[in-house]
Amino acid sequence: GPVLGIESSCDETAAAILAPDGTILAESVFSQTEDHARFGGVVPELAARAHLAHLPGLVAGVLQRAGLTPRDLGGVAATSGPGLIGGLIVGASYGKGMAMAHRLPFVAVNHLEAHALTPRLPGLFPGLPGGGAEFPYLLLLLSGGHCQCVAVEGLGRYRRLGTTLDDAVGEAFDKSAKLLGLPWPGGPHLERLAREGDAARVPLPRPLLGREGCDFSFSGLKTAVAQAVAKGHAHADIAAAFQASVAAVVADRARHALAMAPFDRKPGATALVVSGGVAANTAVREALARVAEAAGLPLIAPPIRLCTDNAVMVAWTGIERLRAGLTDPWNHAPRPRWPLDELTPAA
Ligand code: ATP
Ligand code: MG
Ligand code: FE
Repeated sequence: GPVLGIESSCDETAAAILAPDGTILAESVFSQTEDHARFGGVVPELAARAHLAHLPGLVAGVLQRAGLTPRDLGGVAATSGPGLIGGLIVGASYGKGMAMAHRLPFVAVNHLEAHALTPRLPGLFPGLPGGGAEFPYLLLLLSGGHCQCVAVEGLGRYRRLGTTLDDAVGEAFDKSAKLLGLPWPGGPHLERLAREGDAARVPLPRPLLGREGCDFSFSGLKTAVAQAVAKGHAHADIAAAFQASVAAVVADRARHALAMAPFDRKPGATALVVSGGVAANTAVREALARVAEAAGLPLIAPPIRLCTDNAVMVAWTGIERLRAGLTDPWNHAPRPRWPLDELTPAA
């Protein structure tokens, strides 16, 4: 039967129902951004209370729109980490409660795995043979909380090739935007401002560019932005230079990742996939498109609503895991920290 997905790891409360073949029957996201904006970032306690307030209505809504009752479901999948513990407890407990009450299998979903498997959703990418990404592929997870190059080798098989040594890339966008006096979350505002600027007018560093491996570092770039602001450079020029630097670094890291194991031997990567909120950035996408083209690979960038936090990806992960016979007990404990390389792989 159809699978219900629940997401509550950060500041999006979301529910979705997918048919076993991946068809989206109903989906719904409530973004708490406005609740947190006046604090300049996500307030964990507020987030947990908002998840509790909104989740029951969201779940009832997707069930109604899909024309289903809980008894019609084939399973429940809820994000159980990594993320803010209060929100995880709300979403995972709700999901486990429903699974227990209706005797349904439960899947405790790792949020990063859900981002990683999104490009496998059938029907989303009609250009691909088979309709979705096939293993192995390179995932660039570029979000507010994460910045990683991951080799997606199979269900539950993820090799983290590189990560950030300090700030996540979305965090770097948000902190730099704040220095430029833009509202939180600053990424989209900074992108808009960058359109009016000239990157060549402000010299900014490109951290780790050309360096071995595919790690990232953004704190030095943020400091350089602060210095450029202090020197009186035009804010639009700084924004343009910052964005150009990030795009160049991300492209360089992706190029390096494609040359690392397991991609250094046949069959190599089947695709370059970008996900996370920063995947919405046009300069970053264009830079990655050039890397993919040079490597002869398709660049898969899911639609923005599936790049940022959503429950469709959680339900889809549930479907993939249920198919492989992987379920979790009704007393599974949420994990605020849960690295991708600690997952149960498919047999
Ligand atoms: P995670 O998924 O790691 O738990 P998160 O929920 O904060 O973290 P997302 O919702 O995927 O991450 O993405 C939010 C981030 O994306 C924010 O930092 C935001 O500024 C950034 N972002 C969104 N749109 C753009 C854009 N057009 N350009 C640059 N950054 C953007
Ligand atoms: Mg978010
Ligand atoms: Fe996320």
